[in-house]
Amino acid sequence: MCGIVGYVGRENAVPVLLEGLQRLEYRGYDSAGVAVIKNGALRVHKAEGRVRDLSEGLPKRVAGPIGIAHTRWATHGPPSDVNSHPHLDTAGNVAVVHNGILENADALRAELEAEGVEFASDTDTEVLAHLIGRSEQQELEEAVREALYKVGGTYGLAVVDARHPDRIVIARNGSPVVIGIGAREMYVASDVAALVRHTQQVVLLDDGELATLTADGFTTQMMDRRPTTKETLELDADVSSYDKGGYDHYLRKEIADQPSAVAGTLRGRLDQRFSTAHLGGIELSARELRGIRRVKILGCGSAYYSGIVGADLIESLARLPADAEPASEFRYRNPVIDPDTLYLAVSQSGETFDTLAAVQEVQRKGGRVLGVVNVVGSSIARACEGGVYIHAGPEVSVASTKAFTSTAVAFALIALHIGRVRDLSPADGERLIGGLERLPEQLAQIMETEDHVAQVAQRFSAASSAFFIGRVGGYPVALEGAQKLKEVSYVHAEAYPASELKHGPLALITPELPTIVVAPDDHLVDKNRSAMEQIKARGGPVVAVGHRAFAGLADDTLLVPKNEPELDPILLGIPLQLLAYHAALVLGRDVDQPRNLAKSVTVE
Ligand code: GLU
Repeated sequence: MCGIVGYVGRENAVPVLLEGLQRLEYRGYDSAGVAVIKNGALRVHKAEGRVRDLSEGLPKRVAGPIGIAHTRWATHGPPSDVNSHPHLDTAGNVAVVHNGILENADALRAELEAEGVEFASDTDTEVLAHLIGRSEQQELEEAVREALYKVGGTYGLAVVDARHPDRIVIARNGSPVVIGIGAREMYVASDVAALVRHTQQVVLLDDGELATLTADGFTTQMMDRRPTTKETLELDADVSSYDKGGYDHYLRKEIADQPSAVAGTLRGRLDQRFSTAHLGGIELSARELRGIRRVKILGCGSAYYSGIVGADLIESLARLPADAEPASEFRYRNPVIDPDTLYLAVSQSGETFDTLAAVQEVQRKGGRVLGVVNVVGSSIARACEGGVYIHAGPEVSVASTKAFTSTAVAFALIALHIGRVRDLSPADGERLIGGLERLPEQLAQIMETEDHVAQVAQRFSAASSAFFIGRVGGYPVALEGAQKLKEVSYVHAEAYPASELKHGPLALITPELPTIVVAPDDHLVDKNRSAMEQIKARGGPVVAVGHRAFAGLADDTLLVPKNEPELDPILLGIPLQLLAYHAALVLGRDVDQPRNLAKSVTVE
């Protein structure tokens, strides 16, 4: 959830480190720090707050051809200068940056304190710095290995030692670490976003691996010293896909990206001849697909909500019972894993800890899991036995928009693919392909309604709470709409199935509490109309999202173009993203980095 960057070469490491941290800041942003080695001495600077706070106060003496840096999302000890990484050993030789959680840190700290070690911070990470610093091993890699044998938990980490000023030792267990290969210089980062400016050649470390980087190359081995052979991957992302593209915020850019993100999800996957979808990552034969009896989708937050959209699509198109469940709860209820169930794990980053743990739980019990993931080569993508990359392009803003939409589109492709192996007719297959092909253009049309959505956001931004309601396919749209508003504007929002309103929450309706009603033109439109009437009768303001205006009922309607009924939920969510964005702007929120949150939740 936080970022690591490292550099070893011939240039000054500091500009590379700071620029890298800025690109990773979306993953954790409560404090940051750098450590470099120059003339055999460690130079460290750390600061609570954003990366810009770190850069502004950076003394000139902090410069050198090798260094590591970190942006933190606190788990052990509050954000502060001292708790920022890098953490040092007592002698000030060793510096460690760490993503993740060391589970036995308290016990190790007590042992070290009993031996007279004084700790400077509240973090779990500092334990590692002392263990490495106190090791009798001559080689840094051996000292790191020895320390790692003593700790439990998750880590992605990078270590430098002033006594070994030519190398960075890195290791991974449950938290990503990527090596970037340069010309007589090497990079390390927890996310390729920090590397793309410098190199397109990367090597992904696996769990249980350690590596040593010098300016001229790198070696990798497992914790038990077995050397490993690594494949070099060529990145296809260029630096501009990580920029704001002329917009003020990543969130706004990523909302606007959706026509091309969805085109990326669909590219090369529609088969007109057999009216189906081709998904190269799903290596299940037609016979195996016919043998599936149920589908269970696992994800967290917006990924979970996109899973509900997916379950509806699979159930309606493939006629298989399907549901979605929060991955974070799933593994703790000792779930029954059924060999005839297909499990699908959803995660934008592919690093969500809870989702990865749910994947492992299914696999441990002999179940079959496929991933629906954005980041190629990520942990979940690698843990699953196949799956579908959504190809939405990098998503930087903490609040998900284009990944949510592209995931829903990927589910439509999966539903079409399974459906056509089962009982979905060629005519319906063709109808859906037509609908999918229209999506990018229709998404672009919704962007043109932004001014109107902004006016509505302005009007209701004083409300301290809002309801989002919808029925069946509209319900996950309401859930995700409420989630967006909460995340970026900090306005309390609650989603309900529209049918449930009268069973309790109607008591809260007042002229101060707006309700957003997801009301597409479908077989439930009259039911949604009745819900609007019930709210109106109690003086509650109503904003409808749908295909036609609800004169006399809704104070406003956010219009979207009509697609096929199964695909309409994908479009209905877009005005709600714009609504949340504009509400956040009116309220002066930090749109891209909302308080307390981080992109890609790699801790439990
Ligand atoms: N557990 C460490 C800390 O609290 C690392 C947190 C992170 O991953 O940023 O400092």
